[in-house]
Amino acid sequence: MRVPPFRPAAQPLGLIARSVPMQDLDVIVIGGGAAGIGAARTLADAGKDVLLVEADTRLGGRARTEHVDGMALDLGAGWLHSAEHNPWVEIAALHGFALDQTLPRWREQWRGLGFSVAEQREAGQAFASFEARLRTDPPPGDRAGAALTPGSPWNVWIDTISGFVNGTDTAKLSIADYLAYENAATETDWRVPAGYGALVAAQANGLRTALATPVTSIDRSGTRLRVETSRGTLDAGQVIVTASTDVLAQGSIAIAGHDALFHAAAALPLGVADKLFLGIDHGEDDLDANAHLLGDPRNAITGTYTLRPFGRPVIEVMFGGEGAREMTERGLQGAADFAIEELCALLGGQWRRRLRLLAGSAWSRETHIRGSYSHALPGRAAARQILSTPVDPRIRFAGEACSATEFSTVHGAYKTGVAAARGLLG
Ligand SMILES: Cc1cc2nc3c(=O)[nH]c(=O)nc-3n(C[C@H](O)[C@H](O)[C@H](O)COP(=O)(O)OP(=O)(O)OC[C@H]3O[C@@H](n4cnc5c(N)ncnc54)[C@H](O)[C@@H]3O)c2cc1C
Repeated sequence: MRVPPFRPAAQPLGLIARSVPMQDLDVIVIGGGAAGIGAARTLADAGKDVLLVEADTRLGGRARTEHVDGMALDLGAGWLHSAEHNPWVEIAALHGFALDQTLPRWREQWRGLGFSVAEQREAGQAFASFEARLRTDPPPGDRAGAALTPGSPWNVWIDTISGFVNGTDTAKLSIADYLAYENAATETDWRVPAGYGALVAAQANGLRTALATPVTSIDRSGTRLRVETSRGTLDAGQVIVTASTDVLAQGSIAIAGHDALFHAAAALPLGVADKLFLGIDHGEDDLDANAHLLGDPRNAITGTYTLRPFGRPVIEVMFGGEGAREMTERGLQGAADFAIEELCALLGGQWRRRLRLLAGSAWSRETHIRGSYSHALPGRAAARQILSTPVDPRIRFAGEACSATEFSTVHGAYKTGVAAARGLLG
């Protein structure tokens, strides 16, 4: 597989210098993920003097591509969800990134291994009844888990699916929030062979950027905003903040008068989902490209496996919710050992010698992110609106959690960044 060369995303500003010089900036955008890049791009295109300030040493945030053995592996976002209304389709064309339109097979179990066709049908029916209850007869309290059928053998499976989709089980999931996403999403999911993370970073090409520069506070007492960073104080007329809800709720960026907004962030915690890539040393032709397996439909601690994505000699593993938390505790090699054992149980013990860990993520351990994607706690779906409504007209918030219907996605994050920028442009 030919992988295009990595494109440096942006020129780091003062990365070598020990402090960032004070500047008369129009706008500072805090956070160089999809939302921050969308905001900074929009402002720069409108002629504003904008600086994108990122705590990490790279851009992309939760969209991160790593290059291993000549392959671009997405350790965060991988799918352009709802491709019909996903701006990254057009952006990919702009930057010359090809898209693979092969649809995911998440609902199929390859060859029915460990999960027969009859069981899949039963589980699917249980999920359909659960979702019908959420829509037509929602239990009081807005807690999705309360709509599970007591004693159903498929409740664990439904919670496991929720772990992958929402990063949490149904007990901590708002029904209104879950349905807002489901009602807006389509089932057209595409991928970027050169990496979704690389694509997101490419959209920052040419933007002025300060990497490795965590912002600690915004002082809004003067006519201009003073932004404290670990490497000095910056000065701007307006600011857009795109840090994740867990970072905001933790108080990592102090802003006076924003307590209600930080409480809203706490009502939109990040669930956990993590990826692992296992290299296949030989025997890859025994597996169908892009086929899918769920490790164990009766266990909350299980992985979901995409066999040979793009036809590559790898297995892409994802853990969600409780399973992802458990794997974070085990560490990358521990998680890989677990995944290999699950695969051996389905495919046969010969796979133990054929698979090895290539790369993996632990998003809840990332200091400046702290999780994977947001979900609203029961009764708290309106927190998304609070988070995206400015307290000070000079300061806007953006990021996946600010989207009422496309949260937990790269395209949702990007759209909130563009909207925040347009809000400042007036
Ligand atoms: C494993 C996994 C799989 C996923 N799969 C998909 C998928 O297939 N499709 C999809 O659309 N989405 C997926 N997502 C979700 C998607 O990645 C996110 O919703 C999206 O990337 C969030 O973008 P953002 O800009 O809102 O936030 P982030 O990407 O988190 O960007 C915020 C940035 O702010 C920086 N920051 C934080 N604090 C500070 C500070 N104090 N100063 C300066 N900078 C700071 C952070 O370092 C970060 O770079 C997945 C996520 C994960 C983790």
